[in-house]
Amino acid sequence: MWAGIVEAMKRAIHWFRRDLRVTDNTSLSAAVQESGEVVPAYVLSDWQGQHRWTGAPRQTFLCGSLAALDGNLRALGSGLVVRDEGDAVEVLVKLARETQAEAVFTNRDPDVFGRGVELRLAQALAEDGRELRTFKDAAIHERDEVKTGGGGNFRVFTPYSRAWAKLEKPVMASKLRHIASPADIKSEPLPTPSRWGLAEFSGGLPAGEKAARERMKKFLAGPIFDYGGRRDLMGEDGTSRLSQDLRHGLLSIRELYHRAKAAAEGADAKGRDNVWKFIAELIWREFYFQILWHYPEVLEHEFNAKYRGMEWDRDEEKFRAWCEGRTGFPIVDAAMRQLNATGYMHNRARMITAMFLTKDLHLDWRMGEQYFMQMLIDGEIASNNGGWQWSAGTGADAAPYFRIQNPWSQTKRYDSEGTYIKRWVPELSGVPVKKFLEAPVDGRAIAPGYPLPVVDHGAERDETLRRFKAVG
Ligand code: FAD
Repeated sequence: MWAGIVEAMKRAIHWFRRDLRVTDNTSLSAAVQESGEVVPAYVLSDWQGQHRWTGAPRQTFLCGSLAALDGNLRALGSGLVVRDEGDAVEVLVKLARETQAEAVFTNRDPDVFGRGVELRLAQALAEDGRELRTFKDAAIHERDEVKTGGGGNFRVFTPYSRAWAKLEKPVMASKLRHIASPADIKSEPLPTPSRWGLAEFSGGLPAGEKAARERMKKFLAGPIFDYGGRRDLMGEDGTSRLSQDLRHGLLSIRELYHRAKAAAEGADAKGRDNVWKFIAELIWREFYFQILWHYPEVLEHEFNAKYRGMEWDRDEEKFRAWCEGRTGFPIVDAAMRQLNATGYMHNRARMITAMFLTKDLHLDWRMGEQYFMQMLIDGEIASNNGGWQWSAGTGADAAPYFRIQNPWSQTKRYDSEGTYIKRWVPELSGVPVKKFLEAPVDGRAIAPGYPLPVVDHGAERDETLRRFKAVG
């Protein structure tokens, strides 16, 4: 061997986390290229029962996606090795010893918890004479790539997105044709939600890479060219529905970006404009990644330090009414019931329900943040925290606190026919739409069994202004 040619490793582990696909997977491709054999591994998290930030919808989707991943790996001559013995660091060191793997390859996690595990794993492997290799994959531009002219972090979206757009974009990895893996590595069975003491959730979209690719193709073939005009209409399917696929890495963000850009090139001016509106949302995702990365305290505190002493309530009864879709505000109830039934909520509805929780009920945004994390299949720590703090008026580039959305006028604007409300609140299916646009004037329920509004929006708006002024 002459200098300059690196000898390939004999064996490496690729550790799957939030990258449950074989197409354009940076770390998996690197492992296949650099190592004679690859052990594709997944370590099950070891909690049981109630988890503060996870629930049946996301775990069910995870299980389906792991089963699909195993099938896709088998088609390439390999298979998923599932391990389930506790702490991921210990499990991976043990697996590396057992398989005589020289290195563990993995894609970097954009959140602080995943990063903590990476640091511990790097150290444990080094002590064992092995190596951890990490790769950028979950984002097009991560952590410290997008900086202000002075080298600082962006705290506001628009200049961040301009700087993001100017940077050169990573290309896709070439298609994998075969993965050579040792034959005799034992695996635990693929998990079901009962592994965590949870019941199967039946309301979500189909899991797995193939289903995600079909969703992507469908969106790019048509709806993307109309995205800007339809994305806020809650009764329509005007958005991509790809959030759970990006969250679990069933799709590569690079592929989605490059395909969307290619779609823009073949479109007319209006179509192009709409594609860029869609890409702007992908940039929001990375904006929040970097906010969480640089300001991890947002998980505990308000991003805007001015509001850290804010008075928030913790009224359990009001909170339960909100969670269960029993507030007497049809648009809020429709949204919460969509979340409970499907593990998904439309973006406009997320803003309405989050503002309602914080500005009409005055409940602590952390209560809503937690409930969303438990229910959302796309539950993403960074985007969820960003969305909640934006809605509460305390976050990075947040709506100013005095801009308080009125749930009645939001309904008029974004669900004017009541399609969304009637779909998710069946007891309102026969009620005239005008009754969704204001509180009942006669003080009587708009349908048998449907509650009266739990609060008066105007009065609570004044109360919110009082609370913000008291600290600001
Ligand atoms: P599209 O409109 O098709 O957008 C395309 C993609 O861009 C999405 O899949 C998502 O990855 C990203 N995106 C879109 N809007 C945003 C945004 N405002 N912030 C960050 N990324 C965005 N998104 C999550 O992925 N996980 C969450 O846990 C989450 N929690 C939220 C909580 C609140 C209170 C709010 C207001 C928003 C939250 N969002 C979250 C953002 C947004 O609501 C969802 O990404 C979107 O509704 C997903 O549907 P879609 O894939 O059809 O979106």
